[in-house]
Amino acid sequence: MPRILAEYIWIDGTKPSPLLRSKAKVIDGPVQRLTEIPEWGFDGSSTNQATTGSSDCVLQPVFFCPDPIRGGNNILVMTEVFNADGTVHATNIRAHLREVAAQYATHEPWFGIEQEYTLFNSIQPLGFPEHGFPEPQGKYYCGVGSGRVYGREIVERHTQVCLAAGLRLAGINAEVMPGQWEYQIGPVGPLEVADELWLSRWLLARIAENYNVRVSFDPKPIKGDWNGAGAHTNFSTKAIREPGGMQHIEEACKKLQLYHEQHVPLYGHGNEERLTGQHETCSIREFRYGVSDRGASVRIPLAAAKAGYGYLEDRRPAANCDPYQVCGAIVKTVCGNW
Ligand code: ADP
Ligand code: MN
Ligand code: MN
Ligand code: MN
Repeated sequence: MPRILAEYIWIDGTKPSPLLRSKAKVIDGPVQRLTEIPEWGFDGSSTNQATTGSSDCVLQPVFFCPDPIRGGNNILVMTEVFNADGTVHATNIRAHLREVAAQYATHEPWFGIEQEYTLFNSIQPLGFPEHGFPEPQGKYYCGVGSGRVYGREIVERHTQVCLAAGLRLAGINAEVMPGQWEYQIGPVGPLEVADELWLSRWLLARIAENYNVRVSFDPKPIKGDWNGAGAHTNFSTKAIREPGGMQHIEEACKKLQLYHEQHVPLYGHGNEERLTGQHETCSIREFRYGVSDRGASVRIPLAAAKAGYGYLEDRRPAANCDPYQVCGAIVKTVCGNW
């Protein structure tokens, strides 16, 4: 049997926002099924997940795809973290989403997440001069040309590796602030979108390494009159996607309003810096929804309003959110009653 490298990826226990970790294991390949990938372990005392005296944590493979960085038959493996005694680790939020997804599977929830991020050199976003600031926002969003977009080579490389890995990428665009970009994953089910979003973040950080560039998911990387970075979460159920769906969209919005205070803490650390009521956001202290309204908490896309069905866009999640948390919260609220 040929030997391949499997890069095991997991989410650590760093507070307030967890970090991605990974390490590679040589295993027999090529791998056809998840069950062929062995469990593995790591030193949880080095990742804020265990004490030195009882440091072993378990990595349980839950999803794998081709490794577009190493190529060949090598693979990337998304994992869940368990304690040595087999119980779910406190940092394993995916395990909760698994339960929620199973409970509400008949609603057929779909998600499409717009991941915004900012590329940094050692001190500031790409495109920011050594001293002072670049020209004000206006010409950068979906821009082309030197002086208008920064870091495109990384963005293009990232796009190619996401496609080669089979991730359900929906598109990419340059954002409003220099050095800021977006890609979207979906629409797919809650576990798929969250797994693929975390993997796509890993790939982005990995590609940017080659350019000595740091990827920031900070919701407000530059204070002042500069756009923050979000993770707009587009959502639908079967009922929302079918004729007559508008009524279900309205109901969903009213429920999201009711549980605004439960959702906000799960939508990313430091999000209050971003949700100010300016720069295409609604204040974190309010909840509003509306058709085509980019100043609302939840936007009903014009196309959905016109068709009478489709999906809604929760604009509140921050770029650094955990999609396992966000998707779990939305499904629980809209399909159930929190
Ligand atoms: P915006 O106009 O807000 O920038 P984007 O085009 O960036 O919108 O993102 C829209 C997202 O909505 C895409 O990721 C797409 O996958 C997702 N989407 C489309 N239809 C649905 C649906 N029925 N349910 C959930 N998500 C959807
Ligand atoms: Mn978008
Ligand atoms: Mn955007
Ligand atoms: Mn959006």
